[in-house]
Amino acid sequence: MKIMAVNAGSSSLKFKLIEMPSEKVIVKGLFESISKKNTEENFTSKYKIGNDECNVPIRTHTEAVKILLDYLIDKKIIKSYDEIDGVGHRIVQGGKYFDKSEVITKDVEAKIEELCLLAPLHNPAHLDGIRAFQNISKNIVNVAVFDTAFHQTMAPDTYMYALPYEWYEKYGVRKYGAHGTSHKYVAYKCAEVMKRPIEDLKIITCHIGNGASISAVKGGKCVDTSMGLTPLEGIPMGTRSGNIDPAVLEYMNQIDPEKYTIKELLRILNRESGYLGVSCCSNDSREIEANLDKNPLCNLALDIQYKRIADYIGSYYVHMGGADAIVFTAGIGENSSRLRREVLKRVAVLGVELDEEVNNKVRGEIAEITKPSSPIKAFLIPTEEELMIARDVYEIIKK
Ligand code: AMP
Repeated sequence: MKIMAVNAGSSSLKFKLIEMPSEKVIVKGLFESISKKNTEENFTSKYKIGNDECNVPIRTHTEAVKILLDYLIDKKIIKSYDEIDGVGHRIVQGGKYFDKSEVITKDVEAKIEELCLLAPLHNPAHLDGIRAFQNISKNIVNVAVFDTAFHQTMAPDTYMYALPYEWYEKYGVRKYGAHGTSHKYVAYKCAEVMKRPIEDLKIITCHIGNGASISAVKGGKCVDTSMGLTPLEGIPMGTRSGNIDPAVLEYMNQIDPEKYTIKELLRILNRESGYLGVSCCSNDSREIEANLDKNPLCNLALDIQYKRIADYIGSYYVHMGGADAIVFTAGIGENSSRLRREVLKRVAVLGVELDEEVNNKVRGEIAEITKPSSPIKAFLIPTEEELMIARDVYEIIKK
């Protein structure tokens, strides 16, 4: 069975075609700069499928999907469009409606559309991706895999904000979290690596990439996560501020009401804060780490994040009544030995004994980075969000 895992952004479409149940990746790729502004003569769009790269005008996600499927036929990877048994679409916001993946019906599509208000940058783009596959073939089963689904097991005292209750009842203001597919994958993989039943484990998962969030997973269920109503809450990230005092917004608005409108302030909190805002240098951890000797603000940007990650780990340790393991994943968690070392140093009091030598050596592969004597284990576990998407689609189609 061939399953396609798709992550559609506003101007991009990333995919992985996976053979199931063997979980072998057949081909992967990316379409970039999809835009109605692209013309035959003047365009910035391009794609990479496997090792082939091509600059062509691509105006819509439907055009991208057609190019992709025709490429697969051309390369004899499939004989017809219908050979794709299912497509799993990553959906950032599933709100309170979805605690698991669902086949995309008219009703599911309407709910994803309704939730655009909560994820204005993501859900409309996901709908473009869904409709592109619907336009190309009526026979492909489309499945929605929600980033928020894994977090639906949080208790009310955790997902509620101490705000007027009416805001929750009428407008759905609460914590939904994000990166759920990744947190679930690495937590379950951690149990496998530890050779212990997930039901017996308390795991703190740190997904640290350009976007970053932390989850507390007890007995295989999410009991807390750092992102909130939107991905802005939690720890500082590449360009997002993470938690701040909300009064900062009014304060800055008073300083210059014309410049600092709510919309502009939220744009700055989402796009010009975090590593980028503090370091005045970059949102990319590689560049920040490379400039540590030259620019003290790069040090500060990282230290602020490390401290906040440690704060969350401490809080989740208390919330779960202990922890068996801390897992690092995503671009920075998998590649930066510095981040792992500095975070674990800050939570050493809980009983984490880092093996510096192993930590310095490993990158992008499963590894235990604490000493055998360490009461709390720490692991590097590369995330596999696309594989999780493919597994969900496979299970749904099998049924
Ligand atoms: P993600 O959002 O998971 O793709 O992660 C993006 C982040 O991972 C960026 O800040 C990258 O700088 C970081 N990253 C990727 N590769 C490396 C690496 N080899 N060393 C340090 N950071 C890396």
